[in-house]
Amino acid sequence: MIRILVTGGAGLIGSHLCSKLLESGNKVLCLDNFFTGTKENLLQLMDNSYFEILHHNIINPISLELDQIYNLACPASPIHYLHDPVQTTKTSVIGAINMLELAKNLNIPILQASTSEIYGDPEIHPQLESYWGNVNTIGPRACYDEGKRCAETLFFDYYRENKVNIKVLRIFNTYGPHMRSDDGRVVSNFIVQALQNQDITIFGDGNQTRSFCYVDDIVNAMIQMMDSKDLTGPINIGNPMEVTMNELADMIIELTDSKSQKVYLPLPKDDPKRRKPDITLARQKLNWEPKIDLREGLLKTIDYFKSPRPS
Ligand code: NAD
Ligand code: UDP
Repeated sequence: MIRILVTGGAGLIGSHLCSKLLESGNKVLCLDNFFTGTKENLLQLMDNSYFEILHHNIINPISLELDQIYNLACPASPIHYLHDPVQTTKTSVIGAINMLELAKNLNIPILQASTSEIYGDPEIHPQLESYWGNVNTIGPRACYDEGKRCAETLFFDYYRENKVNIKVLRIFNTYGPHMRSDDGRVVSNFIVQALQNQDITIFGDGNQTRSFCYVDDIVNAMIQMMDSKDLTGPINIGNPMEVTMNELADMIIELTDSKSQKVYLPLPKDDPKRRKPDITLARQKLNWEPKIDLREGLLKTIDYFKSPRPS
């Protein structure tokens, strides 16, 4: 039995990753400061004696006994990462240094949850790992994008300088149960609005695109990457099915049988126009591709938002 650290384990992806790792017979330590994550996401794990929670801010160094690290701690929704942008950069950059030091000292593998946001507003479509990106360094989103870019730099410096066993995945838009209703990301916003027959808030003209991947598929890719030999990445992980925000809204209105109408609000600054992963590398190196299509994943997520929450 090995002991695995999941930083950001109380969030959307982290909570599903903790579950899956426990199911596979591991001990799991979830480190989180509960900025966006909640204990509610971990309720079904609390009775498992191999599961522990550590309330800790990753920007502070820490010493632990571990066998693997998955580094996910960082708010992922624009409204949350923009709330305190300096804290967001510190979480990515200082957090990465603290976790890499731990991995170096313990001589254990470490996986970084990097992001498609490192490509910024991409000029290459679909996005390949070899593309260096188009990020506005002084824009509001830069605290997240540049923090994640610098974290990748640190991972590769620790790999070159200290031979740390690194694994970097560039994750594209992910959705599923355990998104907060006030998460602010588009899938949860549209579902919550549709279920309440409220206006669906489309930012801009709704012709911008994203490619949404169900959380279980992402978690499987992360575990496969961690278990791979000699793969450092970066490797793109996401669902290549690209939709406009108008199409997403129409699909959610249909699946929820909602009376909601679409309303158009200003587009946030530096909002990427198109995003779609090229997952050739993931297919070749990890033998991975997403299994859950958008309609199926949305139905599961809609069921989650319909079910009563513990108070
Ligand atoms: P989330 O906001 O649901 O979860 C992030 C978790 O990190 C939360 O539990 C939060 O409380 C915790 N956290 C934040 N700052 C922290 C700090 N300073 N110390 C300790 N814990 C802290 O986000 P998510 O969607 O689960 O994303 C998880 C990771 O995956 C993030 O690193 C994100 O950048 C990356 N990612 C997510 C997506 C996506 O679409 N969801 C896409 C690409 C990359
Ligand atoms: N978006 C929208 N309405 C919302 C929330 C988001 O139209 O209520 C848009 C947003 O402007 C972006 C896309 O949906 O173009 C995806 O936004 P999200 O915050 O989910 O992810 P990201 O922009 O980080 O990819």
